[in-house]
Amino acid sequence: MAAHHSVIAIDGPAASGKSSVARRVAAELRFAYVNSGSLYRAIAWLANDRAVKPDDSQAVAKLLSQTSFRFDLRNNASAISIDGVDPEPHLRSEAVNNVVSKISALNVVREFLLGPLRQYAEQANLIMEGRDIGSAVFPDTPYKFYIDASPEVRARRRAAEGQQDNLSSRDRLDASRTIAPLKIAPDAEVVDTSDLSLDQVVALVLRRLEEKGLRRGPDERA
Ligand code: C5P
Repeated sequence: MAAHHSVIAIDGPAASGKSSVARRVAAELRFAYVNSGSLYRAIAWLANDRAVKPDDSQAVAKLLSQTSFRFDLRNNASAISIDGVDPEPHLRSEAVNNVVSKISALNVVREFLLGPLRQYAEQANLIMEGRDIGSAVFPDTPYKFYIDASPEVRARRRAAEGQQDNLSSRDRLDASRTIAPLKIAPDAEVVDTSDLSLDQVVALVLRRLEEKGLRRGPDERA
C-alpha cells in the first residue's frame, strides 16, 4: 500500500475549511490536489441521474459495473469522466448533498473508490482531503491533519457559500457508518479553525510539514 509519492492527508467534517486549506497548501508546495469527496459526489450524481436509490447496495453495484469511469490528474487537479460526461457542474447541488452520505456508506462504493484514490499517489505528490484519508486510504503517510471547526462556524461558512446543505445530518451519517467512518487518525494533527483565519491555518500546516521534513514538488506542473 506504500504510496510512490508524498501524500498529505486532510480529513475533517463538512464545511470545516479543509478544501480551502488543502488547495492553498497544494499550490504552495506544488503538489496535486484531490478532493476525494468529489468522487463520492460523482457516484451520488450518477445514481440520481439513473434513478438508483442511494441505499440500494445491489442496484448501486450493478450501476457501477455498467458504467465507465475515468479518474485522471490534469494540471495537478483531479478530473472525472463518467461515460464520457464531466459531472463537475452537478457535484455540489442540493440533490447530491442530500444523498451523498448514504451512498458513501455502502461497502461496494468504498471498495470501488479505494483503488482509484490510491492510484493518484502513483502519479504525483499530492494532498488529498476527505473523511478517511489518514485513517483508511493512506494510513501509512506521516503527513496527516484533521481540520475541524465548531458546528456554528461550519454552518455559517456553508451558508456564506450560498449552499443548501444539511451538515449535521451528513456528519452524523459520515461518523456513524461501519466502514471507514469520519474519525481522527491517532497520529493526525488536529487543527481547530474556528478562531483562525485561512492564512493562519495554511501557515500552521506548512510549518508542521516542514518540521516533518516534507519537501516541495518541482517547479514544473505535473
Ligand atoms: O468533502 P465533501 O463534503 O464534498 O464530501 C461529500 C461526502 O462524501 C461526505 O459527506 C461523505 O459522505 C463522503 N466522503 C466520504 N469519504 C471521503 C470523502 C467524502 O465518505 N473520503
